[in-house]
Amino acid sequence: MDFDDTPDEAAYRARVRDLLAEHAADLVHLDAGEEAGDAAEQEQALRRTQRVLADAGLVGVAWAAEHGGQAGSLAQQAIVGQELARARVPALINHIGLGMCGPTVVAHGTPAQHERYLARLLRADDVWCQLFSEPASGSDLAALRTTAVRDGEDWVVNGQKVWTTLAHVADFGILLTRTDPGKPKHAGLTMFVVDMHAPGVTVRPLRQMGGQSDFNEVFFDDVRILDSERLGEPGEGWRVALTTLLNERVAVGGGGNDLGLSVESLARLAAAKLPGLTPERRVLARQAVGRAAVAALGNRYTGYRRLTAISQGGLPGPEASAGKLAGTAASRLVSDAGVRLLGDDAVFAVGTGDDGTGEDGAGRWQRNQAWLPGIAIAGGTDEVLRNIIGERVLGLPPEPREDKHRPFDAGSRA
Ligand SMILES: Cc1cc2nc3c(=O)[nH]c(=O)nc-3n(C[C@H](O)[C@H](O)[C@H](O)COP(=O)(O)OP(=O)(O)OC[C@H]3O[C@@H](n4cnc5c(N)ncnc54)[C@H](O)[C@@H]3O)c2cc1C
Repeated sequence: MDFDDTPDEAAYRARVRDLLAEHAADLVHLDAGEEAGDAAEQEQALRRTQRVLADAGLVGVAWAAEHGGQAGSLAQQAIVGQELARARVPALINHIGLGMCGPTVVAHGTPAQHERYLARLLRADDVWCQLFSEPASGSDLAALRTTAVRDGEDWVVNGQKVWTTLAHVADFGILLTRTDPGKPKHAGLTMFVVDMHAPGVTVRPLRQMGGQSDFNEVFFDDVRILDSERLGEPGEGWRVALTTLLNERVAVGGGGNDLGLSVESLARLAAAKLPGLTPERRVLARQAVGRAAVAALGNRYTGYRRLTAISQGGLPGPEASAGKLAGTAASRLVSDAGVRLLGDDAVFAVGTGDDGTGEDGAGRWQRNQAWLPGIAIAGGTDEVLRNIIGERVLGLPPEPREDKHRPFDAGSRA
């Protein structure tokens, strides 16, 4: 990918800007980390925003037309993302549906499932969540214990999930279950689409230290799922889950997107703050800003290369793990440099607009800094991604996995 827009991309960008200006009155506008007071109102506003954007052709840009998308390129999708950020439109409410669940339904769903789910997902008529992690299996996802047992035309699900982003507002989820405990842990799994409003599904929001609830515990008590809601064959759940996980690593940083505040925001803050520092501090601050800018731009352009490879027909591979790792590291450097530039102001969460006035987005640098450790865990922790890079990219010897070939019910961990 050329780092500058091609003439076609420039024309597309201009069209996106025009569309965003045309629909500005119907869209939510927020800075990263700002939330409206009323969560239910905010949810409705975000659903409306996604619907307006979808109707304007700005959601699912790179999805195939047969699935309700725009059949555009990943470069165009990246342009829409950049322009939404520029217009201060917050992340789409159905970001997990768009980034992870939708691509999984596309790849492994039946035509009837495509018909039933995809168009509504794009318009946020249905919001989706991803029900993978459990209290004793996050990184070691294949060790999960939630069971699904066949009963006539249904499967009966029992167990618990945790850290389920958006489950409290979700209408559907992709649910990974164990259907054959007698098989080795990767072989006995099956994936389903679950109706989050079905009897027996209980969602309990987890309260975060900032007061908000982004994640949930989800309990399944004899929840019945029709066999027609299965994604992929019984026992093929791990293969289906890998589609989700690879897409997740591209969605979270693997495309070179800024995970939080951009290097341009940092440059504006630095321009406002550097002149007021003593010469000694200015040297240190310039170094921090320079390091962060190099990491963030390096990540952005490497991400463009990955997007180019994918738009030319390649599949997201283990290099997406490197992208997520590099994206998180770069974002940490950017927000650490931002908070250091604020100096004492950082303590009081004031003076944090890009221009240093504090009027616009107070506290955004600190909020971003507090949010990043979560991103370094979600979708594969830094340590686990390093394992993947070591084994699948560098060809280093794999870590010992003594339970890999043993039946799950013989004990999942060594
Ligand atoms: C912001 C956020 C959003 C999330 N959203 C969702 C969601 O929507 N749906 C969902 O299903 N889950 C979600 N999760 C859960 C997330 O996927 C898990 O937290 C993650 O996979 C890590 O699993 P764990 O918490 O069980 O940690 P553990 O696996 O218990 O890891 C604990 C520590 O041990 C390290 N470790 C573990 N195994 C190894 C190894 N083999 N080698 C080296 N180090 C290792 C880890 O890196 C980590 O530092 C979310 C998490 C966060 C933070």
